[in-house]
Amino acid sequence: MIRKTKIIATIGPATSSKEMLRKIILRGVNVCRLNFSHLEHDAAKEIISNIKEINQELHMHTAILADLQGPKIRVGIFEKPIKLIKGEEVIFSTKRKKNTIHISYINFAKDVSVKDKVLLDDGKIVLEATSTNKKDTVVLKVIFGGLLHSRKGVNLPNTKISLPCLTKKDKKDLTFVLSEKIEWIGLSFVRSANDVRVLKRIINKQKLNHKIIAKIEKPEAIKDIDSIIDAADAIMVARGDLGVEVPPHKVPVYQKMIVEKCITQAKPVIIATQMLESMTENPSATRAEVNDVANSVIDGADAVMLSGETSVGSYPLNVVDTMRKIIRDVERSDHNISKNRINKAVINNERFLTNSICSNACDIAKSTEAKAIITVTYSGFNTIKMSSYRPSAFIYAFTNNHTILNTLSLVWGVRGFYYDRGTTTDQTIKETKEILRDGSFLKKGDLVVNLASMPAHEKGMTNMMKLSKVK
Ligand code: ATP
Ligand code: MG
Ligand code: MG
Repeated sequence: MIRKTKIIATIGPATSSKEMLRKIILRGVNVCRLNFSHLEHDAAKEIISNIKEINQELHMHTAILADLQGPKIRVGIFEKPIKLIKGEEVIFSTKRKKNTIHISYINFAKDVSVKDKVLLDDGKIVLEATSTNKKDTVVLKVIFGGLLHSRKGVNLPNTKISLPCLTKKDKKDLTFVLSEKIEWIGLSFVRSANDVRVLKRIINKQKLNHKIIAKIEKPEAIKDIDSIIDAADAIMVARGDLGVEVPPHKVPVYQKMIVEKCITQAKPVIIATQMLESMTENPSATRAEVNDVANSVIDGADAVMLSGETSVGSYPLNVVDTMRKIIRDVERSDHNISKNRINKAVINNERFLTNSICSNACDIAKSTEAKAIITVTYSGFNTIKMSSYRPSAFIYAFTNNHTILNTLSLVWGVRGFYYDRGTTTDQTIKETKEILRDGSFLKKGDLVVNLASMPAHEKGMTNMMKLSKVK
Protein backbone atom coordinates (compact mmCIF):
# COMPACT_ATOMS: atom_id res chain seq x y z
CA MET A 1 0.00 0.00 0.00
CA ILE A 2 1.63 3.26 -1.04
CA ARG A 3 1.05 6.62 0.53
CA LYS A 4 1.07 10.05 -1.04
CA THR A 5 2.05 12.06 2.03
CA LYS A 6 5.63 11.35 3.06
CA ILE A 7 7.13 10.77 6.52
CA ILE A 8 10.36 12.39 7.72
CA ALA A 9 12.05 11.04 10.85
CA THR A 10 14.82 12.75 12.80
CA ILE A 11 17.57 10.26 13.55
CA GLY A 12 19.18 10.18 16.99
CA PRO A 13 20.27 7.69 19.64
CA ALA A 14 16.88 5.93 19.51
CA THR A 15 17.11 5.21 15.78
CA SER A 16 20.71 5.50 14.59
CA SER A 17 21.64 1.80 14.61
CA LYS A 18 21.44 0.07 11.26
CA GLU A 19 18.85 -2.31 12.64
CA MET A 20 16.55 0.52 13.78
CA LEU A 21 17.09 2.47 10.57
CA ARG A 22 16.01 -0.56 8.57
CA LYS A 23 12.93 -0.99 10.76
CA ILE A 24 11.74 2.60 10.51
CA ILE A 25 12.35 2.69 6.75
CA LEU A 26 10.35 -0.52 6.30
CA ARG A 27 7.56 0.98 8.39
CA GLY A 28 7.27 3.98 6.14
CA VAL A 29 9.96 6.61 6.75
CA ASN A 30 10.78 8.24 3.40
CA VAL A 31 13.33 10.81 4.53
CA CYS A 32 15.88 10.60 7.37
CA ARG A 33 16.74 13.94 8.96
CA LEU A 34 20.10 14.53 10.56
CA ASN A 35 20.08 17.53 12.86
CA PHE A 36 23.60 18.96 12.93
CA SER A 37 22.76 20.74 16.17
CA HIS A 38 23.12 17.41 17.90
CA LEU A 39 25.42 15.32 15.71
CA GLU A 40 29.18 15.02 15.27
CA HIS A 41 30.46 14.36 11.75
CA ASP A 42 31.68 10.86 12.58
CA ALA A 43 28.28 9.83 13.86
CA ALA A 44 26.57 11.44 10.87
CA LYS A 45 28.91 9.63 8.48
CA GLU A 46 27.99 6.28 9.94
CA ILE A 47 24.24 6.96 9.78
CA ILE A 48 24.57 8.13 6.17
CA SER A 49 26.46 5.03 5.10
CA ASN A 50 23.95 2.80 6.90
CA ILE A 51 21.05 4.47 5.07
CA LYS A 52 22.86 4.08 1.73
CA GLU A 53 23.45 0.38 2.44
CA ILE A 54 19.82 -0.17 3.44
CA ASN A 55 18.68 1.59 0.26
CA GLN A 56 20.76 -0.82 -1.80
CA GLU A 57 19.71 -3.89 0.14
CA LEU A 58 15.98 -3.06 0.01
CA HIS A 59 15.93 -1.29 -3.38
CA MET A 60 14.57 1.82 -1.72
CA HIS A 61 15.29 5.50 -2.26
CA THR A 62 15.25 6.96 1.23
CA ALA A 63 16.37 10.58 1.10
CA ILE A 64 18.65 12.27 3.61
CA LEU A 65 17.99 15.74 4.95
CA ALA A 66 20.90 17.50 6.66
CA ASP A 67 19.56 20.23 8.91
CA LEU A 68 22.00 23.06 9.66
CA GLN A 69 21.62 24.65 13.06
CA GLY A 70 21.74 28.27 11.92
CA PRO A 71 21.90 31.09 14.48
CA LYS A 72 20.18 29.04 17.18
CA ILE A 73 21.11 29.81 20.75
CA ARG A 74 21.43 26.82 23.05
CA VAL A 75 22.19 26.03 26.66
CA GLY A 76 25.31 23.96 27.33
CA ILE A 77 25.79 20.37 28.33
CA PHE A 78 25.13 19.26 31.92
CA GLU A 79 25.32 15.84 33.53
CA LYS A 80 21.74 15.66 34.77
CA PRO A 81 18.64 17.56 33.64
CA ILE A 82 18.16 20.70 35.76
CA LYS A 83 14.85 21.29 37.53
CA LEU A 84 13.75 24.91 37.21
CA ILE A 85 11.15 25.87 39.82
CA LYS A 86 8.68 28.73 39.47
CA GLY A 87 9.74 31.84 41.41
CA GLU A 88 13.37 30.77 41.84
CA GLU A 89 16.34 32.49 40.22
CA VAL A 90 18.91 30.96 37.86
CA ILE A 91 22.14 32.37 36.50
CA PHE A 92 23.08 32.12 32.83
CA SER A 93 26.66 32.72 31.83
CA THR A 94 28.60 32.72 28.57
CA LYS A 95 31.56 31.43 30.59
CA ARG A 96 31.59 27.87 31.85
CA LYS A 97 31.25 28.51 35.61
CA LYS A 98 30.02 26.47 38.55
CA ASN A 99 26.36 26.88 39.52
CA THR A 100 25.50 28.67 36.28
CA ILE A 101 23.87 27.44 33.10
CA HIS A 102 26.10 27.91 30.09
CA ILE A 103 24.62 29.72 27.07
CA SER A 104 26.20 29.66 23.60
CA TYR A 105 25.36 33.23 22.53
CA ILE A 106 28.41 35.34 23.30
CA ASN A 107 26.54 38.69 23.31
CA PHE A 108 23.73 37.36 25.51
CA ALA A 109 24.47 39.56 28.55
CA LYS A 110 25.04 42.60 26.34
CA ASP A 111 21.90 42.24 24.22
CA VAL A 112 19.39 41.23 26.87
CA SER A 113 17.60 43.85 28.98
CA VAL A 114 15.90 43.54 32.37
CA LYS A 115 12.32 42.22 31.99
CA ASP A 116 13.13 40.53 28.61
CA LYS A 117 11.60 37.06 28.29
CA VAL A 118 13.90 34.11 27.72
CA LEU A 119 12.22 30.93 26.47
CA LEU A 120 13.75 27.46 26.68
CA ASP A 121 13.05 24.21 24.82
CA ASP A 122 10.60 25.49 22.19
CA GLY A 123 8.97 27.71 24.82
CA LYS A 124 8.17 25.02 27.37
CA ILE A 125 10.10 26.90 30.09
CA VAL A 126 9.80 30.69 30.49
CA LEU A 127 12.31 32.92 32.30
CA GLU A 128 12.55 36.68 32.76
CA ALA A 129 15.79 38.63 33.09
CA THR A 130 16.08 40.39 36.45
CA SER A 131 19.63 41.71 36.07
CA THR A 132 22.57 41.59 33.68
CA ASN A 133 26.18 42.64 34.16
CA LYS A 134 26.23 43.45 30.41
CA LYS A 135 29.36 41.32 30.12
CA ASP A 136 28.86 37.61 30.64
CA THR A 137 26.25 36.93 33.33
CA VAL A 138 22.47 37.30 33.52
CA VAL A 139 20.20 36.51 36.47
CA LEU A 140 16.75 35.25 35.49
CA LYS A 141 13.55 34.48 37.36
CA VAL A 142 11.63 31.31 36.51
CA ILE A 143 8.10 32.24 35.34
CA PHE A 144 7.10 28.77 34.11
CA GLY A 145 9.37 25.98 35.29
CA GLY A 146 10.18 22.52 34.06
CA LEU A 147 12.98 20.05 33.53
CA LEU A 148 15.78 21.51 31.40
CA HIS A 149 17.86 19.07 29.37
CA SER A 150 21.30 19.71 27.83
CA ARG A 151 21.57 21.60 24.52
CA LYS A 152 17.97 22.77 24.48
CA GLY A 153 17.19 25.85 22.38
CA VAL A 154 16.89 29.38 23.77
CA ASN A 155 14.62 31.99 22.16
CA LEU A 156 14.69 35.70 22.90
CA PRO A 157 11.46 37.02 21.36
CA ASN A 158 12.00 40.58 22.69
CA THR A 159 15.71 40.81 21.94
CA LYS A 160 17.22 41.64 18.53
CA ILE A 161 20.10 39.26 17.92
CA SER A 162 22.80 39.86 15.37
CA LEU A 163 23.99 36.54 14.00
CA PRO A 164 24.38 35.55 10.33
CA CYS A 165 22.17 32.82 8.81
CA LEU A 166 25.23 30.63 8.18
CA THR A 167 27.35 30.63 11.33
CA LYS A 168 30.95 29.42 11.61
CA LYS A 169 29.67 26.05 12.77
CA ASP A 170 27.20 25.86 9.86
CA LYS A 171 30.01 26.50 7.36
CA LYS A 172 32.01 23.62 8.81
CA ASP A 173 28.94 21.37 8.77
CA LEU A 174 28.16 22.48 5.23
CA THR A 175 31.60 21.44 3.98
CA PHE A 176 30.94 18.02 5.44
CA VAL A 177 27.39 17.83 4.06
CA LEU A 178 28.51 18.85 0.56
CA SER A 179 31.15 16.11 0.61
CA GLU A 180 28.46 13.49 1.27
CA LYS A 181 25.70 12.14 -0.95
CA ILE A 182 22.86 14.01 0.74
CA GLU A 183 19.86 15.28 -1.20
CA TRP A 184 18.33 18.00 0.97
CA ILE A 185 19.85 20.72 3.18
CA GLY A 186 17.73 22.47 5.82
CA LEU A 187 18.56 26.13 6.42
CA SER A 188 17.40 27.30 9.85
CA PHE A 189 16.12 30.77 10.84
CA VAL A 190 15.88 32.06 7.26
CA ARG A 191 15.05 35.77 7.44
CA SER A 192 15.00 36.68 3.75
CA ALA A 193 15.25 35.15 0.27
CA ASN A 194 18.82 36.37 0.23
CA ASP A 195 19.74 33.91 3.02
CA VAL A 196 18.65 31.11 0.66
CA ARG A 197 20.52 32.60 -2.30
CA VAL A 198 23.77 32.81 -0.31
CA LEU A 199 23.62 29.07 0.36
CA LYS A 200 22.57 28.32 -3.22
CA ARG A 201 25.60 30.21 -4.55
CA ILE A 202 27.96 28.15 -2.37
CA ILE A 203 26.35 24.92 -3.66
CA ASN A 204 26.35 26.03 -7.31
CA LYS A 205 29.96 27.21 -7.16
CA GLN A 206 30.98 23.62 -6.43
CA LYS A 207 28.76 22.38 -9.28
CA LEU A 208 26.70 20.38 -6.77
CA ASN A 209 23.01 19.74 -6.82
CA HIS A 210 21.93 19.72 -3.16
CA LYS A 211 18.42 21.08 -2.72
CA ILE A 212 17.60 23.70 -0.09
CA ILE A 213 14.74 23.59 2.41
CA ALA A 214 14.10 27.01 3.92
CA LYS A 215 12.91 26.60 7.50
CA ILE A 216 10.24 29.17 8.32
CA GLU A 217 10.61 30.01 12.00
CA LYS A 218 11.06 33.81 12.17
CA PRO A 219 8.50 36.63 11.82
CA GLU A 220 10.78 38.21 9.18
CA ALA A 221 10.40 35.07 7.04
CA ILE A 222 6.60 35.28 7.21
CA LYS A 223 6.79 38.85 5.87
CA ASP A 224 9.03 37.81 2.95
CA ILE A 225 7.35 34.44 2.36
CA ASP A 226 6.64 34.72 -1.39
CA SER A 227 10.23 35.43 -2.38
CA ILE A 228 11.57 32.82 0.06
CA ILE A 229 9.31 30.16 -1.50
CA ASP A 230 10.52 31.31 -4.90
CA ALA A 231 14.22 31.11 -3.95
CA ALA A 232 14.08 27.80 -2.04
CA ASP A 233 13.59 24.27 -3.40
CA ALA A 234 11.26 23.38 -0.53
CA ILE A 235 9.85 24.86 2.68
CA MET A 236 9.58 23.60 6.25
CA VAL A 237 7.02 25.06 8.64
CA ALA A 238 9.33 24.75 11.67
CA ARG A 239 6.66 25.20 14.32
CA GLY A 240 8.99 24.68 17.29
CA ASP A 241 10.88 27.93 16.95
CA LEU A 242 8.13 29.68 14.97
CA GLY A 243 5.69 29.22 17.85
CA VAL A 244 8.13 30.94 20.18
CA GLU A 245 9.19 33.72 17.82
CA VAL A 246 5.54 34.60 17.12
CA PRO A 247 2.62 33.90 19.49
CA PRO A 248 1.67 30.21 19.07
CA HIS A 249 -1.94 31.07 18.28
CA LYS A 250 -0.78 32.67 15.05
CA VAL A 251 0.96 29.48 13.84
CA PRO A 252 -2.10 27.52 12.51
CA VAL A 253 -3.08 30.28 10.09
CA TYR A 254 0.52 30.77 8.98
CA GLN A 255 0.83 27.03 8.43
CA LYS A 256 -2.22 26.93 6.16
CA MET A 257 -1.10 30.05 4.29
CA ILE A 258 2.39 28.59 3.67
CA VAL A 259 1.10 25.17 2.57
CA GLU A 260 -1.33 26.74 0.10
CA LYS A 261 1.32 29.05 -1.36
CA CYS A 262 3.84 26.21 -1.70
CA ILE A 263 1.39 23.95 -3.53
CA THR A 264 0.50 26.79 -5.90
CA GLN A 265 4.19 27.51 -6.54
CA ALA A 266 5.06 23.78 -6.87
CA LYS A 267 7.50 23.76 -3.95
CA PRO A 268 7.37 20.77 -1.57
CA VAL A 269 6.27 21.73 1.95
CA ILE A 270 6.95 19.99 5.28
CA ILE A 271 5.05 20.34 8.57
CA ALA A 272 7.42 19.91 11.50
CA THR A 273 7.62 19.77 15.30
CA GLN A 274 5.50 18.33 18.07
CA MET A 275 3.34 16.37 15.62
CA LEU A 276 3.16 13.37 17.95
CA GLU A 277 5.21 14.88 20.78
CA SER A 278 3.56 12.99 23.64
CA MET A 279 4.72 9.72 22.03
CA THR A 280 8.29 10.68 22.95
CA GLU A 281 7.44 9.19 26.33
CA ASN A 282 4.09 7.42 25.81
CA PRO A 283 3.13 4.51 23.58
CA SER A 284 0.08 6.35 22.24
CA ALA A 285 -0.66 9.86 21.01
CA THR A 286 -3.17 12.41 22.24
CA ARG A 287 -6.33 12.89 20.19
CA ALA A 288 -5.26 16.46 19.45
CA GLU A 289 -1.94 15.29 18.02
CA VAL A 290 -3.62 12.71 15.82
CA ASN A 291 -5.92 15.44 14.57
CA ASP A 292 -2.98 17.75 13.88
CA VAL A 293 -1.25 15.17 11.68
CA ALA A 294 -4.53 14.39 9.90
CA ASN A 295 -5.24 18.06 9.26
CA SER A 296 -1.78 18.61 7.81
CA VAL A 297 -2.45 15.73 5.42
CA ILE A 298 -5.88 17.16 4.55
CA ASP A 299 -4.26 20.53 3.80
CA GLY A 300 -1.99 18.73 1.32
CA ALA A 301 1.47 18.97 2.90
CA ASP A 302 4.11 16.92 1.05
CA ALA A 303 5.55 15.53 4.26
CA VAL A 304 4.95 15.39 8.00
CA MET A 305 7.96 15.25 10.27
CA LEU A 306 8.95 13.57 13.53
CA SER A 307 11.60 15.18 15.75
CA GLY A 308 12.29 14.06 19.32
CA GLU A 309 9.69 11.30 18.84
CA THR A 310 12.14 9.30 16.71
CA SER A 311 15.52 10.78 17.72
CA VAL A 312 15.33 10.29 21.48
CA GLY A 313 11.84 8.90 22.04
CA SER A 314 11.02 5.60 23.74
CA TYR A 315 8.59 4.41 21.03
CA PRO A 316 10.12 5.24 17.63
CA LEU A 317 8.46 2.30 15.87
CA ASN A 318 5.01 2.94 17.32
CA VAL A 319 5.23 6.58 16.37
CA VAL A 320 6.05 5.80 12.72
CA ASP A 321 3.17 3.28 12.66
CA THR A 322 0.82 5.88 14.12
CA MET A 323 1.77 8.47 11.54
CA ARG A 324 1.49 6.00 8.66
CA LYS A 325 -1.99 4.91 9.75
CA ILE A 326 -3.27 8.47 10.15
CA ILE A 327 -2.04 9.31 6.64
CA ARG A 328 -3.55 6.15 5.18
CA ASP A 329 -7.00 6.79 6.62
CA VAL A 330 -7.11 10.42 5.50
CA GLU A 331 -5.92 9.55 2.00
CA ARG A 332 -8.58 6.83 1.68
CA SER A 333 -11.31 9.24 2.76
CA ASP A 334 -13.21 11.97 0.95
CA HIS A 335 -11.12 14.56 2.77
CA ASN A 336 -8.01 14.00 0.71
CA ILE A 337 -6.58 16.93 -1.18
CA SER A 338 -6.88 15.24 -4.61
CA LYS A 339 -10.64 15.24 -4.44
CA ASN A 340 -10.90 18.80 -3.23
CA ARG A 341 -8.40 20.70 -5.31
CA ILE A 342 -9.29 22.61 -8.45
CA ASN A 343 -6.43 23.06 -10.87
CA LYS A 344 -5.43 26.10 -12.76
CA ALA A 345 -2.29 25.97 -14.85
CA VAL A 346 -0.20 29.11 -14.60
CA ILE A 347 0.31 29.93 -18.26
CA ASN A 348 2.27 33.14 -18.09
CA ASN A 349 5.73 31.75 -17.67
CA GLU A 350 8.42 30.04 -19.69
CA ARG A 351 7.45 26.58 -18.47
CA PHE A 352 3.82 26.98 -19.51
CA LEU A 353 3.93 23.92 -21.79
CA THR A 354 4.90 21.62 -18.91
CA ASN A 355 2.47 23.44 -16.60
CA SER A 356 -0.54 22.96 -18.80
CA ILE A 357 0.30 19.35 -19.70
CA CYS A 358 0.60 18.54 -15.98
CA SER A 359 -2.61 20.34 -15.04
CA ASN A 360 -4.51 18.56 -17.82
CA ALA A 361 -2.95 15.22 -16.93
CA CYS A 362 -4.30 15.70 -13.42
CA ASP A 363 -7.80 16.50 -14.74
CA ILE A 364 -7.86 13.61 -17.18
CA ALA A 365 -6.60 11.22 -14.51
CA LYS A 366 -9.41 12.37 -12.23
CA SER A 367 -12.19 12.17 -14.83
CA THR A 368 -11.13 8.77 -16.19
CA GLU A 369 -10.13 7.38 -12.77
CA ALA A 370 -6.73 6.51 -14.21
CA LYS A 371 -4.55 4.56 -11.78
CA ALA A 372 -1.21 6.13 -12.61
CA ILE A 373 0.54 9.11 -14.06
CA ILE A 374 3.94 8.08 -15.38
CA THR A 375 6.74 10.60 -15.81
CA VAL A 376 10.24 10.31 -17.15
CA THR A 377 12.52 12.87 -15.60
CA TYR A 378 16.12 14.09 -15.71
CA SER A 379 15.95 16.92 -13.19
CA GLY A 380 12.78 16.01 -11.30
CA PHE A 381 11.18 19.31 -12.36
CA ASN A 382 8.24 17.91 -14.32
CA THR A 383 7.51 15.39 -11.56
CA ILE A 384 7.45 18.00 -8.78
CA LYS A 385 5.24 20.11 -11.05
CA MET A 386 2.94 17.13 -11.64
CA SER A 387 2.76 16.49 -7.91
CA SER A 388 1.78 20.10 -7.24
CA TYR A 389 -1.52 19.52 -9.03
CA ARG A 390 -2.22 16.84 -6.39
CA PRO A 391 -3.72 14.25 -8.78
CA SER A 392 -5.84 11.36 -7.54
CA ALA A 393 -3.60 8.87 -9.42
CA PHE A 394 -0.17 7.94 -8.08
CA ILE A 395 2.78 9.48 -9.87
CA TYR A 396 5.46 7.01 -10.92
CA ALA A 397 8.69 8.75 -11.86
CA PHE A 398 11.32 6.99 -14.00
CA THR A 399 14.87 8.31 -14.07
CA ASN A 400 18.43 7.12 -14.51
CA ASN A 401 19.63 9.48 -11.79
CA HIS A 402 19.86 7.96 -8.28
CA THR A 403 20.13 11.34 -6.58
CA ILE A 404 16.88 12.50 -8.21
CA LEU A 405 15.18 9.24 -7.15
CA ASN A 406 16.11 9.93 -3.53
CA THR A 407 15.22 13.60 -3.82
CA LEU A 408 11.71 12.71 -4.99
CA SER A 409 11.12 10.62 -1.84
CA LEU A 410 10.15 13.87 -0.11
CA VAL A 411 7.58 14.81 -2.74
CA TRP A 412 3.82 14.24 -2.40
CA GLY A 413 2.36 11.32 -4.36
CA VAL A 414 5.58 10.30 -6.12
CA ARG A 415 7.25 6.93 -6.23
CA GLY A 416 10.51 6.66 -8.13
CA PHE A 417 11.97 3.89 -10.29
CA TYR A 418 15.42 3.53 -11.77
CA TYR A 419 15.22 3.32 -15.57
CA ASP A 420 17.98 3.84 -18.10
CA ARG A 421 16.67 2.33 -21.32
CA GLY A 422 14.02 4.01 -23.46
CA THR A 423 15.59 5.56 -26.51
CA THR A 424 12.22 6.29 -28.10
CA THR A 425 8.99 7.60 -26.58
CA ASP A 426 7.09 4.53 -27.80
CA GLN A 427 9.53 2.17 -26.12
CA THR A 428 9.59 4.17 -22.87
CA ILE A 429 5.79 4.26 -22.57
CA LYS A 430 5.51 0.56 -23.25
CA GLU A 431 8.30 -0.47 -20.87
CA THR A 432 7.39 1.79 -17.95
CA LYS A 433 3.85 0.36 -18.01
CA GLU A 434 5.23 -3.18 -18.10
CA ILE A 435 7.55 -2.49 -15.16
CA LEU A 436 4.62 -1.21 -13.07
CA ARG A 437 2.43 -4.15 -14.09
CA ASP A 438 5.16 -6.70 -13.32
CA GLY A 439 5.76 -5.03 -9.95
CA SER A 440 2.00 -5.30 -9.18
CA PHE A 441 1.58 -1.54 -9.02
CA LEU A 442 -0.86 -1.82 -11.93
CA LYS A 443 -2.94 -4.59 -13.41
CA LYS A 444 -4.15 -5.46 -16.86
CA GLY A 445 -6.86 -3.07 -18.04
CA ASP A 446 -5.86 -0.15 -15.73
CA LEU A 447 -5.88 3.24 -17.39
CA VAL A 448 -2.66 5.23 -17.19
CA VAL A 449 -1.45 8.64 -18.31
CA ASN A 450 2.10 8.88 -19.63
CA LEU A 451 3.88 12.23 -19.80
CA ALA A 452 6.71 12.57 -22.26
CA SER A 453 8.79 14.92 -24.24
CA MET A 454 8.96 14.67 -28.01
CA PRO A 455 11.26 14.25 -29.79
CA ALA A 456 12.70 11.94 -27.13
CA HIS A 457 16.36 12.40 -28.10
CA GLU A 458 16.19 16.14 -27.25
CA LYS A 459 15.38 15.35 -23.59
CA GLY A 460 13.45 18.62 -23.53
CA MET A 461 10.51 19.77 -21.45
CA THR A 462 7.34 17.74 -21.07
CA ASN A 463 5.11 18.51 -24.05
CA MET A 464 2.81 15.51 -24.57
CA MET A 465 0.60 13.06 -22.72
CA LYS A 466 -0.90 9.72 -23.68
CA LEU A 467 -3.89 7.95 -22.16
CA SER A 468 -3.85 4.19 -22.58
CA LYS A 469 -4.65 0.86 -20.97
CA VAL A 470 -2.22 -1.57 -19.38
CA LYS A 471 -1.93 -4.69 -21.53
P1 ATP B 1 15.48 22.32 15.57
O1 ATP B 1 15.10 23.71 15.96
O2 ATP B 1 16.43 22.28 14.43
O3 ATP B 1 14.29 21.43 15.37
P2 ATP B 1 15.77 20.88 18.10
O4 ATP B 1 16.73 21.07 19.23
O5 ATP B 1 14.34 21.18 18.32
O6 ATP B 1 16.31 21.70 16.84
P3 ATP B 1 15.02 18.30 16.95
O7 ATP B 1 15.76 17.79 15.79
O8 ATP B 1 13.67 18.88 16.76
O9 ATP B 1 15.98 19.37 17.70
O10 ATP B 1 14.97 17.09 17.99
C1 ATP B 1 14.26 17.19 19.22
C2 ATP B 1 15.19 16.81 20.38
O11 ATP B 1 15.74 15.52 20.15
C3 ATP B 1 16.41 17.72 20.53
O12 ATP B 1 16.16 18.86 21.31
C4 ATP B 1 17.44 16.82 21.16
O13 ATP B 1 17.26 16.79 22.56
C5 ATP B 1 17.10 15.45 20.60
N1 ATP B 1 17.97 15.04 19.49
C6 ATP B 1 17.76 15.19 18.15
N2 ATP B 1 18.74 14.63 17.43
C7 ATP B 1 19.61 14.11 18.31
C8 ATP B 1 20.86 13.41 18.20
N3 ATP B 1 21.38 13.11 17.01
N4 ATP B 1 21.48 13.06 19.33
C9 ATP B 1 20.96 13.36 20.53
N5 ATP B 1 19.79 14.00 20.72
C10 ATP B 1 19.13 14.38 19.64
MG1 MG C 1 12.81 20.82 16.80
MG1 MG D 1 14.17 25.21 14.74
